[in-house]
Order: sequence, then structure tokens, then C-alpha cells
Amino acid sequence: MSKSPKYTYEFGKNTDGDATMRDLLGGKGANLAEMARIGLPVPPGFTITTEVCRYYYDNDHNYPQELDAQVKKAVKSVEKQLGKKLGDKKNPLLFSVRSGARDSMPGMMDTILNLGLNDETVEALAKFSNNERFAWDCYRRFLQMYGDVVMGIQKTPFEDEEPFEMVIHEFKKEISPETNGEIEDSDICAEDMKELVGRFKKLIKDRTGKNFPTDPWEQLQGSIGAVFSSWMNDRAIVYRHKYNIPAKWGTAVNIQAMVFGNTGDDSGSGVAFTRDPASGEKILYGEFLTDAQGEDVVAGVRTPRPVIELKDVLPKSHAELIDVQEVLETHFRDMQDFEFTIEEGTLYMLQTRNGKRTGLAAVRIAVEMVEEGLIDWQTAVQRVPAEQLDQVLAPIFNSDAEKAAEVLCKGLPAGPGAAAGRICLNAERAVDMAKHGDVLLVRLETSPEDLRGMIAAKGILTARGGVSSHAALVARQMGKICVCGADEVQIDYDKRIVTIGEAKFKEGDHLSINGTTGQVYGGEIETAPSEILQVLIDKSLDAKDSKSYENYAKLMEWCAQATKLGIRTNADSPGQVANAIAFGAQGIGLTRTEHMFFEGKRIDAMREMILAEDLESRKKALKKILPYQRRDFAGIFETLDGLPATIRLLDPPLHEFVPHDQEAQRDLAKKIGCRIADIKRRVDELHEFNPMLGHRGCRLGNVYHEITEMQAQAIFEAAAQVKAKGIDVHPEVMVPLVGFPKELEIQKGIIDRVAAEVMKKKKVEIDYMVGTMIEIPRACLVADEIAEHAEFFSFGTNDLTQTGLGMSRDDAGSFLPFYQDEEIVSANPFAAIDQRGVGQLMEIGVANGQKTRPDIKLGICGEHGGEPSSVKFCHSIGLNYVSCSPFRVPVARLAAAQAALEEEAAAGGGKAKDVKKAKAKKAKAKDTKKSKSKKK
Ligand code: PEP
Ligand code: MG
Repeated sequence: MSKSPKYTYEFGKNTDGDATMRDLLGGKGANLAEMARIGLPVPPGFTITTEVCRYYYDNDHNYPQELDAQVKKAVKSVEKQLGKKLGDKKNPLLFSVRSGARDSMPGMMDTILNLGLNDETVEALAKFSNNERFAWDCYRRFLQMYGDVVMGIQKTPFEDEEPFEMVIHEFKKEISPETNGEIEDSDICAEDMKELVGRFKKLIKDRTGKNFPTDPWEQLQGSIGAVFSSWMNDRAIVYRHKYNIPAKWGTAVNIQAMVFGNTGDDSGSGVAFTRDPASGEKILYGEFLTDAQGEDVVAGVRTPRPVIELKDVLPKSHAELIDVQEVLETHFRDMQDFEFTIEEGTLYMLQTRNGKRTGLAAVRIAVEMVEEGLIDWQTAVQRVPAEQLDQVLAPIFNSDAEKAAEVLCKGLPAGPGAAAGRICLNAERAVDMAKHGDVLLVRLETSPEDLRGMIAAKGILTARGGVSSHAALVARQMGKICVCGADEVQIDYDKRIVTIGEAKFKEGDHLSINGTTGQVYGGEIETAPSEILQVLIDKSLDAKDSKSYENYAKLMEWCAQATKLGIRTNADSPGQVANAIAFGAQGIGLTRTEHMFFEGKRIDAMREMILAEDLESRKKALKKILPYQRRDFAGIFETLDGLPATIRLLDPPLHEFVPHDQEAQRDLAKKIGCRIADIKRRVDELHEFNPMLGHRGCRLGNVYHEITEMQAQAIFEAAAQVKAKGIDVHPEVMVPLVGFPKELEIQKGIIDRVAAEVMKKKKVEIDYMVGTMIEIPRACLVADEIAEHAEFFSFGTNDLTQTGLGMSRDDAGSFLPFYQDEEIVSANPFAAIDQRGVGQLMEIGVANGQKTRPDIKLGICGEHGGEPSSVKFCHSIGLNYVSCSPFRVPVARLAAAQAALEEEAAAGGGKAKDVKKAKAKKAKAKDTKKSKSKKK
């Protein structure tokens, strides 16, 4: 007989899961099991697997047949361990029911606490805890959560407040008319709590027509279903899209015996990190509230106290937490974010997970953990999400401007960096406002409903809540600048006014926040480059004076050790090239020469060339452009100082360069001495219905050979000029939009001829290459024939995506967000390579190209070259380099190193490792050989 599938895993005395099982048990379930295994005090419970969630959605919200028996068995096991029973009138067992996906999705799904309470068990809890008010408060909370989450009693569009909160409000007014209900929850006595429970039950009955279920088993079933259902709630879906979490992962459900942090002053709940998640500093960091349940700490309703103060309140528990900090870090070898509850002096661990951290903290923690011997450098490189490196390059406030500004108040620094913008007090409005400029979302506290607004905002300021409040958590993860718990901030949502001390700000007025110090300023403070940019680009800061630069540099040094891919840059000016080199670029992967035509006076010469009616006048105009181009290329070659430069010939359709409005046409006619009617006629002639698929790319050079001639002449004359100064040059001339081998053959013929002429005339040898972009599907399919004329290929994945998907790169914005919401596409294919489609075309292109020319140099210069998943893909198909914009170079370097390390890990150690290393060295040498020969 086949064994029935296992749908529940226990933790506690009979732990049968562990940390490696996060796909099946979710992160929370897997780590609860792991903590129980290593002897940390975890209240017992069990996890229902993510497989059940998938079953639930595939089977119309039904469960596998075996589940019920397994749940009953697991409940029995917990009952036995604790000597309590679910629903028992004397000694009732209470449960919490929580979600837990493979990757944590903080606050996005639902939770139920105090499950198992009813009119009878509440009495037992009162007796057992010797605290009647506490017991009825637990019951009241349970009704509220169950009513909201399981029975769906939520605010309608016509209500201002959650229905349960409304009942509390009204009730408070009745029991304290003299304060108009302005009393704390803690001021509600036991008798009044009982009354409130009655009113909650009535609300449930009135709104749903059903009674609140008193049978704990029914409660359990309802709660499990609600947690699974919350996997598909709006905010969970928004979150999953933001972080590319597939819906098919599903969530697990964790059912755990309740412990109570709200039984008095020797109890409490808290959230802590083993290091500061904002700065990365190694300290026990976090916060707690005495006499509170965990939800109170993260909800941001009461501002908790720093965990360090626990030392004064409950010193024994504080000492235990310090031990826990050590145990967790040495066991998980990563910064942990954990939740704890202290029940009458006894510490319990309710959760641990790898803590979300800012980019700044990620780099620091990775580097310091290597120094402490906790991890090796390879692990450190893999620890920093490549995308997060952007954060360490993000601007800070200009220090003089900040000093001159008046500090309005100070909150907790929860997301480092500088943000200035117009304030907005509502998340939905923030989304709209953000379309017109930077917005600061200002709230008393945030909740998961505010997620869209938080994504749209530049920074977040809250009046309540600590560093583990929802605002701080989400901001940290998204790299938003955030100040929270700034309690001097008062908000009038109705009048849309923020008051800080004496100062008043209307929605739309400007504020500035410093998420590194927690300071809040009126008005808009000027920003300045980050410390790393100050060292690398501005050179205004000495490397040794910046710890964050030191950490960054160390990480980049390790990347260089691991990386196989070369990293180049897309740059069109010496300034951009210099920046990219400072970030570690090893050459140019794409210079778009058309960008050079728009500058200054040269645009007139360019227009004259386009408007020319015959070859002679076109050549005359090209002659005027030549010196500009030559100067541009010389500047780039000099800055590159021996590194290779891929220069692409003119690509866009000519109509992009000519004036379309009458005024500008008149102006041009005057400048180049022709009739406005001629200009108008030529502009009309150039009009195309679909210019992206029209007369552009190499089609221009093939119809007008003289354009290619002029560009080649400029490149080689510039090269000769720079070489004469003793600077090595390596131009790689690239022909765009090739689909037919003959297109390239003709272009290469012109380039080679001009190169030979210049070299002969200038009496120099220039080491150059001619290659092509591979950016239309036909080019991939006939790459073997194209490679007969190409010494290198560079994948133009912008156009390859456009033509491969038949999706306009300029128009896809109108439907792509919808496609992402519907999961028709897993990500924006213009941002991350569509590996299955476009990626396959690239692989075909690589294989075909290598058939003809086994050592053909391969790169990518589409926007994808700086996007981590695409960089990893390029590594996997054996490209020699990726090329991206200068400021993406660090991200690409990190992603490339991670790709190499992942590959090494997948191949196993030993010999495979050596072979890979040798291969890697070869590939890298191929792309950097020239620069090295120059530098020696
Ligand atoms: C491309 O198509 O990927 C590319 C780099 O060229 P452009 O974006 O200039 O068309
Ligand atoms: Mg292109």
C-alpha cells in the first residue's frame, strides 16, 4: 500500500522539518523547525505545507483528503507536549495561525491569534492566568481578527473606519462620556471587555447573518482557509509582482501554541535583529513592548522601546536575548530578524528569518561577516542582492545645505539616504502625485494597504512605530528613504495638514528627510552624491575616510576574483566613459554615434546632410560633420587609455534628426540657405509609418555608403591621432540591424577600405575589428553566414526583444503592466531578458556564430546588460562581456560574479572547479587582453 503524502510537519519535541525545507514549509515553518532542533525555546506547533496551498487553488478551495487526519494528529501531539487540550474547559490550548511563504512577505497575508477561545474556554483562561481582563481582551482580539479575516467583515467604501474599531469607538464614548471616548484600550475593565465581546458577536451576526463559531475545530478550519485565501489578496499580489515571487509557490500555514506577552509587566513582545538592518552595525537591534502581543509591536500603534532598554526592565530576558543573538548568527551565518515573546519572565522564540536590510547594511554585513570568520568571501558576494547596490550609490544631502536647514524634529532612522519631495498624506493620492515629481508619503503609521503609495514615494515619514514597524520594514526592503516614529509629527487627514511643532505644511508642500540620521526638515534640501561617488567620481573624498567606500571596494575586489564575464559600458562621451572606468568597466560595449549628432552646431550639418538632394551635396555636408566626429572619438579613445571601444555606426531613421514644426524648419532654412518648402517636402518624404522597422540601422549605410565612409574615416583618423600620442587604441566598428549577410559584407568592405587608406596615409597600424549587432531574429538564424564577415557579435536585446516578440519598445507600456498583473509575462521583457523566447534566439545566434568562427567575441549591449537576471543568463550562454550604462556597472559586476559563483557551486568543487576556472580565465583574458598589454 502506498504511504499517504505528508502534509503536516511538526516542530517542538517531535520536530520533523528543518531549515532546508523552505520550499515546502515556507521560511517561517522551516526556521521554526530549525530553531526547535538547535534547542531554542520554541512553543510547539506544526506547519501545513505549501503543497496544500497549491492543491487548494487547483481544486476549487478544497483540501487533500488526508489533511484532516494529519491536522488532528498534529494537534494531539501539541496537546500532549503541553498537557492542554483544544477546547478544554479547564485547561484550553490556544493557537496562533499564521502564513509563511518561501520568501517572507511581511504583513501581506493574514494571521489569527488566540484561536480556541469561546465563552467557556475564556473563563478557563481567566482562571488559569488569574487575570480576567486579560482573558476577555484575548477573546475580544480573537473575535476581531476572526471576524475580519475569516468572516470578511471589513470597511465598506462608505465607512471611514474598520467596523470593529467603530464599535470600540462608540463603546468608549459610552463608558467615558466625559472624555468623549478618548481613553486607551487598557482603560477598558474586565466587565466592559465582556460587554464589548457581546457587541462584537452581534456585529458578526448582523453583518454575516451567521453566529461566530464557538467550536475550536471549526475555528481552526476557517482560519486555515483564510490564511490560504490571503495568498491571493490584493496586497500579496502587488508584493509578489514587485519581488517577482511566482503565485505557484503558495504559502504554508503555521499553527503554533499561543504564548502571551500581554499578561502583565513581566511579559512582553518584541522584534529584534542580530545587526542593525539599516546601517549593518553589529549590535542587538530592535524593540519591545511590555504587556503586549507581537502584533502590537509591528502594527506601529504604540511606539515600542529600544531593545537595549529591556536590560533595565527584564534583565534576565535581555541576557537571554544576547545569547540567542549569538546562537542564531553562528547557526544561520546570516543576520537574523526574529520575534520573541516573554511570558511571565520566560523567553520564547516565535520566528527567525534572514533579515531584510538596506543596500548599505547588506554590503557592510557581508564584508564584516567575512572578517569575523562567519562566512567566506564567495558567500559574501552572493549575499548582496545585485539590485541593492544601487542604494549605496544613491544621493545624500549636500552637507552645507543640510547644516543650514532647520531641523523640525527627529524620528528613527529606518531607511538611509536623503529624500526631498512634496508631501502626500494618502497612499492612493501619492501614486498620482508621484507622476509629477518626488513625493514623501507622510502617515501616522503605514499598513499593507499603503503598499502602492510606498512604492511610488521617494521617501516615507511616519509619526508612530519603531524600526520594525511596517513602514520601516517595507522601506528597508525596497531601499526607500524612511524616518519613522517621529512623534512630533501631527497629521490632520481631513484637512490634509501636517504640523511639526509650530510649523504647518499642506499636502503638496515640501519636506526633506534624512533616513540615515532620522532628521526631518522643512522645504527642499539640495542633494549630493553618495560617499562612494564622492570617492570614485568627484574625488572630493579620500577613500580612507569612508567606511562605506572601503566595504564597497572590498566587495568589488572579490567580484573581480570570481567574475568570468567582462563588464563594459554603453557610453557616448568622455565624461561617461571616465565614470564607467571608475566603476570598473573594462571598455566600451556601445557608443551610439547618433547621440553625438545632437550636440551644438553639428545638428545643422547633420540636417544639411539629410536634406541633400544629391551625392555631391551630401558629401559636402558630411565633410562638415567629420571633424566633430573625429574629435568625439579622439576624446573617447584618450579616456579609455587602451581599453577597447565598440563604436556603432549611425542607427536611427533620418527623420529623427530633422525639424518637424514650422518654426524650426524656417530656422533651419535660414541657417543652411535653402527654401522652407524644400525642407518640408524632404521631411514628408522621410516620413515612415513604422520607423522602427523602416530605413534605419545598416540600411542607411547601405543606401548611403558615404555616411559609413565618413564615420569610418572619423574613427580611424581619431585612432591614428591618439595613437600618435602614445596611447593605445582598439576600435571595434559595429554595424547595426544586420539581417542579411550581404548587408554586413558591404559595410565591412567600406570600413576596411577606409581603415587601410587612413593607416597608409598616417603611417600607423591600428588594431581594429569589424563586427555587428545581432538584434533581429533573422540575424540569429543566419549567424553562421553573418560570422563570415563579423569578428564579433553584440546582442542588441532592445531590438531583439522588440522584433522577436513583435512588441514595440516604445508602445509596450500601455499593456505590459496588465500582462504582468495577469502573469502573462513573468517580468517586463524590455528590462529582463525573456529567456525562453529572446534568450533562445540568442543561444541560436551564439551557436551559429561559433560554428563559423569558434572564437568569435560575444557581448550584449541592450539595456538588459545591467539587469542581474539577464547578466546571469548572458554568463550561462557563454558571452564574453555585458555592457551597460556607467552607473549600472557595479550592479553588473556583482551579478556577473554571482553568476560565476553559482555556476561553480552547481558544478561542485574539485576538478570541475579547476576546469571552470581555467575556462573563465581564458574568457576574461580574451576581453581584457588589450588593456593589460597597454597597462604593463
Ligand atoms: C539594442 O537594440 O539593444 C541596442 C542596444 O540598440 P538601440 O537601443 O540603440 O536600438
Ligand atoms: Mg538596436
